[in-house]
Amino acid sequence: MSTPGSSAPRLEGWTHTYSGKVRDLYVPDGGSPDGDVVLVVASDRISAYDHVLPTTIPDKGKILTALSLWWFDQLADVVPNHVVSTDVPHEVAGRAMVCRRLRMYPVECVVRGYLTGSGLQEYRETSAVTGLPLPAGLRDGDRLPEPLFTPAAKAEVGEHDENITFEEVASRVGQGLAERLRERTLEVYARAAGVAAERGIIIADTKLEFGASPVPGEGDVVLGDEVLTPDSSRFWPADEWEPGRSQASYDKQFVRDWLTSPAAGWDRGGDVPPPPLPGDVVGRTRDRYVEAYERLTGTSFTG
Ligand code: ATP
Ligand code: MG
Repeated sequence: MSTPGSSAPRLEGWTHTYSGKVRDLYVPDGGSPDGDVVLVVASDRISAYDHVLPTTIPDKGKILTALSLWWFDQLADVVPNHVVSTDVPHEVAGRAMVCRRLRMYPVECVVRGYLTGSGLQEYRETSAVTGLPLPAGLRDGDRLPEPLFTPAAKAEVGEHDENITFEEVASRVGQGLAERLRERTLEVYARAAGVAAERGIIIADTKLEFGASPVPGEGDVVLGDEVLTPDSSRFWPADEWEPGRSQASYDKQFVRDWLTSPAAGWDRGGDVPPPPLPGDVVGRTRDRYVEAYERLTGTSFTG
């Protein structure tokens, strides 16, 4: 595993506190670590198969930030979000947001409208997803009878997130809060799936992260992190949707396909980090992120 934080830029007035696979977090200098804002900076790092790759995708951080901000706006009447301002240090302009510092819940709020990925794998083994039984005979890419809340537990760095049942969520955060997380997640999905459908995009599934605001009155189910980006969601072009096979997707498909091809010469299950991506894979992946942004928002990405 590489150390993503080592590339976090120094920013005057801000202290770097944490780096995930893709984002770097900062708090105001001199502010206490549990002060009330955090600067969330999206880097151009890309991860696949739980590794941060040694190659970055130009503009990815800006594209994901712009798309998240657009969605936060679209969803403003459905759920409160963590954005405080986009007035950020010039070094990270366009790819950072000043956010309310939330106490994040240790649950990935996944919602699936279609069956694929780890949901499909679990369905094939148990006829259910996170304990929710499903009809027999569903294929890769099939639409589910209704969207399902299929939560996961955040894994340690380098490990897979693990699907968990609703009861497990309730045991972590309490029954009432678990129910509210499920309700909000399904509402966000319903709104977003409708918006995307008008633009010819299927949101097969997505992952949301919620937290509690420390500020009285701001609520304890506040949408944080990034939202409805190609990193957190599976977007499929609706006109190419064909259940029974894996779908063309606006995400890291080129990267995954290349990493598992003989050309990469990489052992996914081994201890060796993934190799650098060739230029054409980088270019096509960037194009895919831009295309997702432009199709969803109906505006061109100007960088
Ligand atoms: P991990 O954090 O487990 O490494 P990741 O690799 O997906 O997951 P990133 O998305 O790169 O992480 O980093 C973002 C981190 O910031 C996540 O841990 C996320 O939960 C956290 N986060 C996002 N928004 C907020 C917020 N408003 N307040 C506090 N933490 C936040
Ligand atoms: Mg994340």
